[in-house]
Amino acid sequence: MIAVGPDTRHTQDEIRRLNLGALLRLVHLGGPQSRAELGQRMGLNRSTILALTAELAAVGLVDEERPRDTGRPGRPSLVVRPAADRAYVLAFDVAVDRLVAARVALGGAVLDRREAVRPRAGADLDTVVGVLAGFGRDLHRAAAPDSVCVGVGASYCGMIRPADGMVRFGPDMGWVDQAFGAELRRGLGLGLPVPVGNEAHLGALAEHTRGAGIGFQNLIYLHGDVGVGGGIIVGGKLLDGEAGYGCELGHMVVNPYDGRPCGCGSHGCLEAEVGERALLDAAGRPPELTGRGALRDVVADAGRGQPAAADALRRIGDWLGIGVANLINLFNPGVVVFGGMLRDTYPGAATQVRARIANNVLAVSREVQLCVSALGDDATLIGAAELGFAGLLADPLGVLATSRNRGRSSCPSLVPTPRARP
Ligand SMILES: [Zn+2]
Repeated sequence: MIAVGPDTRHTQDEIRRLNLGALLRLVHLGGPQSRAELGQRMGLNRSTILALTAELAAVGLVDEERPRDTGRPGRPSLVVRPAADRAYVLAFDVAVDRLVAARVALGGAVLDRREAVRPRAGADLDTVVGVLAGFGRDLHRAAAPDSVCVGVGASYCGMIRPADGMVRFGPDMGWVDQAFGAELRRGLGLGLPVPVGNEAHLGALAEHTRGAGIGFQNLIYLHGDVGVGGGIIVGGKLLDGEAGYGCELGHMVVNPYDGRPCGCGSHGCLEAEVGERALLDAAGRPPELTGRGALRDVVADAGRGQPAAADALRRIGDWLGIGVANLINLFNPGVVVFGGMLRDTYPGAATQVRARIANNVLAVSREVQLCVSALGDDATLIGAAELGFAGLLADPLGVLATSRNRGRSSCPSLVPTPRARP
């Protein structure tokens, strides 16, 4: 039961607010469902569900409609769905090869998006914030006049301090202690805070709530790009450590004796052995070849039986299998999800990964699903959007009212808007 009943020490107002949030979360994440189903899932009676949905419908956060003919006698229970045209968030993703901004509706649909290629050479904070803030203002202006921006969230490929969105360490851009969240907030000019999360943490949460991990309480998400990041969900909650920097699964040592050097200064880390460069080097590709296209070429060549490419993929699969086997022994997950560039390499390396699991995982823990990300390259962006929705789902009516007032008092279109160029 997720609803809060009157037998707790909460006041009636708190109970109402918590139940409104719980109901909105159910339809936001689970899609349309009948009042009867909601009542069952929340452990609340019909009249309470009726009152809660009426309140949410009155402010435009949910719609109610008659279900299609159920074929059963009697009056069918009305279906409650999230209203996609009322509340939205702006979500941002700073990935290794691209910068993305999107307007995401309550319910999770991406309504509109902007995207720029990000050169590998790196970019400074002002440039990245300038492009993303330009995209964000553009998306905000394009929204319907009666829709409301209720939050913002951002994903970044590095180590983030959750309290203020500070990038403590962004290895591929060389960022150290860059105030990304605060600067993006200033650049957007919407008066909304910008919570920032590590991309693999957010990918794990997104797959858990909307993707390949639905129904699992224990999940491991491995996100590959130049390196490898990780997110671990235990008992439905993200393990992010004492300060938010946990789950650096890419720096788990899998090959300590003759391992490849890693960007962290160590040798034989998982990301050094299975990352993009490891695969391209193993396949004999020249150092100037980088990126997803080069990696997909190796995978395609391996599929056509080219020996060097096939050997490279097998080698990567073996190291990946050792890492995954260690994680399964440690956490007994129900599912391991491969995201980012590992979506491309895992299918060709699955035989080696499964062989390592058969050899190295304790027999009782071998019942685990292995799959690629269901949300694709948008897993991290969708995770960022959920950061933005957190406030609304905690207090739907309060946050909607505050956001509407903020929208009336500020006029972002008056902020100078240099057109962002990718
Ligand atoms: Zn390392």
